Amino acid sequence: MRRSLIAGNWKMNKTIAEAVDLAREVSRAATTAAGREVVIAPTFTALASVSEAIRGSVVGVAGQDLFWEEKGAFTGEIAPLMLKDAGCSHVIIGHSERRQYFGETDDSVCRKVKAALAVGLTPIICVGELLSEREENRTFAVIERQIRGGLDSLAADQVEKLVIAYEPVWAIGTGKTATTVQAEEVHRFIRRLVAEVFGKAAAEKVRILYGGSVTPENIDDLMKEADIDGALVGGASLKPESFARIINFT
Ligand code: PEP
Repeated sequence: MRRSLIAGNWKMNKTIAEAVDLAREVSRAATTAAGREVVIAPTFTALASVSEAIRGSVVGVAGQDLFWEEKGAFTGEIAPLMLKDAGCSHVIIGHSERRQYFGETDDSVCRKVKAALAVGLTPIICVGELLSEREENRTFAVIERQIRGGLDSLAADQVEKLVIAYEPVWAIGTGKTATTVQAEEVHRFIRRLVAEVFGKAAAEKVRILYGGSVTPENIDDLMKEADIDGALVGGASLKPESFARIINFT
């Protein structure tokens, strides 16, 4: 059985004080979500304070990105161990906004995934097609390229620890959610692909989240699908009541 995971991506929002307040609210809401994993991803500047504020709670903390080198002359970058030092257990890698605006590629995603695993951080690897790619019937080809590239030369026992987030780019922050049928067919495709490349055991264990305008209104239906193991939530994770409802999906 795969454990459900709900992750909140706060993107470039919240001061340190605001992030700490929100994290405390999430941690209170998460006490009723027995058996589920909950993770929040504040901005880099708030990571240490948030981790400290919710220490001992069931909520994990994630970075929104990292760099693969350990240290050195890489101005502006954050090393894997720095995230651990700030209290992180997870890290989001390859979010579509990083791919779109900051030149993230499948190759850099792969380097980051390996660096994260090497220090014991759980990578949440984002994949997803643009609207134009879906309209040209290229969704599966794009997802396959991103998965093969992002997970290149990983071992099966590394892949089973990963979290993959399927986030159709056209659904992120737009209010347009993929239908449960659209989401499930891509999730199933990803699991089959992982089985083909890394074996059935890894495919059974890897968790695949859906992301893209997840709300309290659509989470219950999404979570009914066999291959949807959780959600990566942007906008709704900034609203305590909404995120609380999403965590406590039925
Ligand atoms: C995201 O940023 O990963 C995301 C899914 O955003 P939203 O929920 O706002 O669409």
